[in-house]
Amino acid sequence: MIPSLLPTYNRTQFSFSHGEGAWLVAEDGSRYLDLGAGIAVNALGHAHPALVAALTEQAGKLWHVSNLYSIPEQQALADKLVEKTFADTVFFTNSGTEACELAVKMARKYWFDHGQPEKTDIITFEGSFHGRSSAGIAAAGSEKMTRGFGPLLPGFVHLPFGDHDALQAAIIDTVGAILIEPVQGEGGIRPVPDQCLKGLRDLCDAKGILLIFDEVQCGMGRTGKLFAHEWAGVTPDIMMVAKGIGGGFPLGAVLATEEAASGMTAGTHGSTYGGNPLACAVGNAVMDIVAEDAFLDEVGRKAGLLRQKLEGLVAGHPTVFEWVRGSGLMLGLKCVVPNTDVVAAGYGEHLLTVGAADNVVRLLPPLTITEDEIAQAVDRLDRAATSLEKSAA
Ligand SMILES: *Cc1c(COP(=O)(O)O)cnc(C)c1O
Repeated sequence: MIPSLLPTYNRTQFSFSHGEGAWLVAEDGSRYLDLGAGIAVNALGHAHPALVAALTEQAGKLWHVSNLYSIPEQQALADKLVEKTFADTVFFTNSGTEACELAVKMARKYWFDHGQPEKTDIITFEGSFHGRSSAGIAAAGSEKMTRGFGPLLPGFVHLPFGDHDALQAAIIDTVGAILIEPVQGEGGIRPVPDQCLKGLRDLCDAKGILLIFDEVQCGMGRTGKLFAHEWAGVTPDIMMVAKGIGGGFPLGAVLATEEAASGMTAGTHGSTYGGNPLACAVGNAVMDIVAEDAFLDEVGRKAGLLRQKLEGLVAGHPTVFEWVRGSGLMLGLKCVVPNTDVVAAGYGEHLLTVGAADNVVRLLPPLTITEDEIAQAVDRLDRAATSLEKSAA
């Protein structure tokens, strides 16, 4: 018999009643150290006082009015994002995959309005993830996500990750854009080297096509810069954002240059909920904290500490871990044993991590994690690895 919840997730048996910072408290009172942060969503941890205050204050005033009216909280957040990034304009969504939908529409409309309607194709890369909508799964193109869901939205060209020759050959007249995650998340925490992001920007400039970054997972301070592409010193034409931007409240956004967004005039796109007062009240509170240089420097410093400890962990457990990679507080442990075993052993130590493709375990702690909690997390991983070694022996 089908469960009352559509069984599209393999869920754990335990659940949580509340959270505090980097900790989740289970129904039975036991405390779990959360290195998943709702998959890079709870950027400021659980129940951050500034976010609780922003949400509850707004909840007593106004939840929803429709985008038929001006929404001051939405305007304020857009202004902040424009001030701190490459972008000239912002559209708010409720999720990452809705941001993908708009990014795709925006790119197509750009070429349509520029008299080249044939430029509908968007190049994407193997291992990518852009959400579960029809455009999102077609963009990523993996067998796992698309099988049985055809006919898929046409117009995506899937290339191997890091194959420069294949990329050069794929840029034909029908290509209008390249879409890439600066650090692949679901694909196994695979950072695109700075040189390659620069190369992509140069290629897009030379061929006159649009560059779209999906920073849904790697953005909003996760790598120690507000957005991951800043490390490479290049900017996209269009960028998808979600996850961390709402700190746990559903919120996403598409950021774009004036040029790239030029086709999106009144009536060309919309969202009932996108950018509503509740979401944007929280989004403003997140942005006010995360976009501060001092906060981002602190993320970088703690990331260095975690990385160093993880290198030691990997060296100490060569039969469990192969290496660590990633950027900032977006780190992946490549496993020798099945990554699901490592995640499960972590549960045994009351540590939450998240699996990814390529047999990687993802560590995506709240950006507010403390030094002491980092030490505790690595101790727990160490004990989890030791228990796996014992059970193999
Ligand atoms: C999570 C994710 C998405 C989809 O976001 P949803 O809010 O789940 O729709 C898109 N792109 C990337 C890189 C993601 O990590």
